Order: sequence, then structure tokens, then C-alpha cells
Amino acid sequence: MEDVLDRFLRYVKIDTQSEENGQHPSTEKQFVLARLLAEELNAMGASQVKLDEEYCYVYAEIPSTLSAGKSAPAVGFLAHMDTSPAVSGAGVKPRLVTFTGEDIDLGGDGTYVLSLRDFPGMKALIGEELVVTDGSTLLGADDKAGVAEIMAMAETLLTHPEIPHGRICLCFTPDEEVGGGTARIDLKRFNADFAYTVDGGPLGGMEYENFNAASARLTVHGRSIHPGSAKNTMRNALLMAMEFQRLLPAAEDPMYTEGYEGFYHLCELHGDVEKAEAEYILRDHDKAKFEDKKAFFKACADFINRKYGDGACETDVRDSYYNMKELILPRMEIVNKAKEAMEELGITPVISPIRGGTDGAMLTHMGVPCPNLCTGGGNCHGRFEFASVPQMRKIVELLVLIAEKHRE
Ligand SMILES: [Zn+2]
Repeated sequence: MEDVLDRFLRYVKIDTQSEENGQHPSTEKQFVLARLLAEELNAMGASQVKLDEEYCYVYAEIPSTLSAGKSAPAVGFLAHMDTSPAVSGAGVKPRLVTFTGEDIDLGGDGTYVLSLRDFPGMKALIGEELVVTDGSTLLGADDKAGVAEIMAMAETLLTHPEIPHGRICLCFTPDEEVGGGTARIDLKRFNADFAYTVDGGPLGGMEYENFNAASARLTVHGRSIHPGSAKNTMRNALLMAMEFQRLLPAAEDPMYTEGYEGFYHLCELHGDVEKAEAEYILRDHDKAKFEDKKAFFKACADFINRKYGDGACETDVRDSYYNMKELILPRMEIVNKAKEAMEELGITPVISPIRGGTDGAMLTHMGVPCPNLCTGGGNCHGRFEFASVPQMRKIVELLVLIAEKHRE
């Protein structure tokens, strides 16, 4: 059996960076890891191994080990193969260090120093062996830690047929980081009753609540005229857009919110006197508050129209994704079995709301309830990314036990 660390070190060296270009998969190089995973799954004796040659998904199953007559739900596990477009994932040179709490000079030249001053949350990791970068790339623990853990779980289950479990379904997805992780997934082939994404953070973390999300565009129409003769005639679209922004609740901004607090986030504003466009995202865990935010956004536009005359501005508000919570609540055994497994292994469960979306939330709304589990990685999407070796090993045990717990 290959240690999860060795798997992880092999996978992070393969560049699988995705790209915001609307294609599926967004980059061909993700096939390199996809092919390798399919080969390895075949070699370890998994069944129904399938590489989707068009859209770059890898599917596989581990058959049930229960005796005839005993049934169990089919439990799925997913992780994404791509890494964030934010920082290069080419030529990753992973490095093992024992974290003492002292600064880690990643590249050796003082440019990128991993320090408790900047990442105070890492205090909990003192004494642990970590995989870090050399400062020139991200690490790719997000989500190759999840990929390696699921692969190690699969190998454990396949080499230990005495471990009782139902049918286990695996899927490795492309393009999660650019919002395309579930765009071309074949749920018939995946064939799980419910699933877990393994795409979280520190050991013990589990999430089954995420934002309800919408994008909202404001378009403002002004009237340009020579500023020397503009009195009572000019309508400056830029100023009107700024006026619109001031109508929104000032404190409901990402800069001032946390936990279950939603927000209006102005991501882009551009234009001139004649026309201005503002791009927003609206977020709230609570469905009613989410609907309120969308309605208030439109009401602010109504106010601008009332003040400057009809046609002064218009909005285009579109839902992006929804909180999975409402659909998980009737299936709480999915969360509870994972929690029990953690407790049995001496891991303290930490259940918190995600301030974003997950592929699992999309899958949940596509009919496969799918909370998210920890990976042992941290500081993702950047050069300071790391993965904890003892946590990765513990998470492999956790996944095996979760598979086992869902029988009967
Ligand atoms: Zn991820």
C-alpha cells in the first residue's frame, strides 16, 4: 500500500491548473492526472473505471463487501483535480518540514516567508510534519490532498475485503476552481445515493451549509453634454452608479461580514458620463434574507429611476447557486455518520457554514446530497499553501470508517 503522502507528492508535481475560458475541460493538461488516476484505479482493482475522454472526469466503483441479502446505500466521494488559476501550478517542488512555529523561508531567499505572524491559525500545527512549497508556485493541496486521500481509501478498501461496506462510488472532477466542476458530470455513471466532497481544510472540518448566491448587474444610462453648458441637462452615469451604491446597506459588505452575515459585493464598476455598469454579487445563507437582498437591490434601482426618470437604470439579477442546507436537513444521517466516525477516531468535529459555494452544493441541488469534508490542507490558492502529513493520514482512516459506517 502506498502512503497517502507519497501519492500526494506525486500528484502535486503534475500541473493541472484550470483557466477561466468557458471550455470543458478548461485546460487539456488536466487529462494527465485524470489518465494517471484511471490507470491507478484499474491497477488496484477498482471496477467500472471510466475516464471521460471528452470532459475529463474519472469515475470508479468499489464493489460492496456485504454478504448477499444485506443492502447499503451507495456512498460517493469526490475531489477535484484542477488547481486555482490564482498562482502557477507548474513545476511544484513540494518540501517536507517539521513545523516548529519558527518562520519557514520557502524559497531560501527571504522573499516568501511562512510565518505565524501572517497565519496565526497555524499555531495548532506546531509539531506536525507539513508539505510546503518553494515559494514559486502554489502547492495544490486544494484539492490533491482530497484526491490522494480518496485514492488511499480506495486502495485500503480493495486490499482489505474483510472491511464491511456497501458500494462505494468515486469521482474526480476537473475545473472546480473555475466553477465548472459539475458542469459535465454524469450522475448516472457516478451512481451514488449521496456523497462527500473531500475539499475542505483542517482535520475535523465538515460543512453542509453554504451561501445562496446571485450575480447582479446594474446598467446606468446618463446624458453627456459639454461640461461648460451642462447645467440642468447633463446626467452623469458614473455619479448615478455611485449614488446607487450608497443606497445599499454600508455594513453589508464582505469587508464587514462573517459567519452567517450576508453581503452585497461590488466587484466591478466601469463607465463614463453616458453609461456605467456595475457588477455585484449578492450572498446570504438564509433563503428569505437572500430574496430580500435581491428585492432591495431592485428597489434601489427603482429609486434611481424615480429620481432621474424612467430608463435611467436597469438591473439584471440572476441566481448562481443555492444553500445545500435545506436538502441536507432531511438526510442528516449523512452528516451524523461522518461525525460519529470522527468521534470514534478521536477527531473533534468542527461544523461551520461555508462563505461560498461548493461542488457539493451543486450536486445536492442536482439530487445527490453532498456535504464537504476536511483534507488537512490550508492557505489554499497561494504560495503559502501547505498540507499536514499526520492530518492527511488520519483523513484516510476517516474516509474508510465513513464508508464502513454507512452499511445496513
Ligand atoms: Zn478545492
